[in-house]
Amino acid sequence: QQNTSYYYLNADFVKSFIKKRAKFSHKGNNGRALIMAGSYGKMGAAVLSAIAALRSGVGLLTMYIPSCGYQIMQSVVPEAMAQVDEGGRFLTSYAEESKYDVIGIGPGIGKEQETVFSVMQAIQSFDKPLVVDADGLNIIADHKEILDTLPENSILTPHPKEFERLAGKWNNDFERLEMQKKFSQAHGVILILKGAHTSVSTPQGEVFFNSTGNSGMATGGMGDVLTGVVTSMLAQGYEPAEAAFLAVFFHGLAADIIAENQGIVGIKASDVADSLPAAFKIFH
Ligand code: AMP
Ligand code: MG
Repeated sequence: QQNTSYYYLNADFVKSFIKKRAKFSHKGNNGRALIMAGSYGKMGAAVLSAIAALRSGVGLLTMYIPSCGYQIMQSVVPEAMAQVDEGGRFLTSYAEESKYDVIGIGPGIGKEQETVFSVMQAIQSFDKPLVVDADGLNIIADHKEILDTLPENSILTPHPKEFERLAGKWNNDFERLEMQKKFSQAHGVILILKGAHTSVSTPQGEVFFNSTGNSGMATGGMGDVLTGVVTSMLAQGYEPAEAAFLAVFFHGLAADIIAENQGIVGIKASDVADSLPAAFKIFH
């Protein structure tokens, strides 16, 4: 039954399934994404995920944010629409979701009780794969029953600490890899386990190791950028596993392009988001 296959996620592999943007495409057919993000003091996470989603080509982006973040979002990211939650400092409810191809949940949302409700409701009422990161994952870890309500092939993007909260402790990297595979298979989700060697596991028991990225990415906000990219790729019609592969590959490549030009020290998460178009350009 444990019939695992391992793969290397490199440029040749990505080239085998990436789509070219059609000449007559318009914003309505490049995907509609919703990202639920932000709370007082963490609107930066929401902003970074928004910029990253736009920099990776989503057609239309709506940010579902608490009202304290309204002016921030509209001023910093005018390309995104803002749908404002009643909650002043954190999310308390969830958006009307039927018009979206995908929802990304988590950057900077915190773990207030009302926000737990908001996340649970959003997950329960959406029937397509969604993307969950950061405190969205921590909320799931605190309420493991939510795992069973996740739509099949949803994408979870934990760093090791978040994965430990979800799945428990491990003694070494081999055990961690086994736990990652089992988690994907047991819950029918795609798991992006982030780090210097990000691995992507599928419900079918495959594991893909990313080839891009550098240690300049070990700074705050970098994961929020990835959430935006994954959400954007999923909205653009890629299969969930493909969306995950493209996101980790181009997220890392965007940082590698910066590293080549100006070094790895002092790379900001927003720089990586802004460097995404240059990364995508290698396949034009
Ligand atoms: P987060 O911890 O949620 O902010 O996510 C950090 C992001 O940066 C993930 O996509 C990691 O894969 C990436 N990252 C962090 N440290 C490194 C590193 N040393 N080398 C390559 N990528 C890294
Ligand atoms: Mg994070």
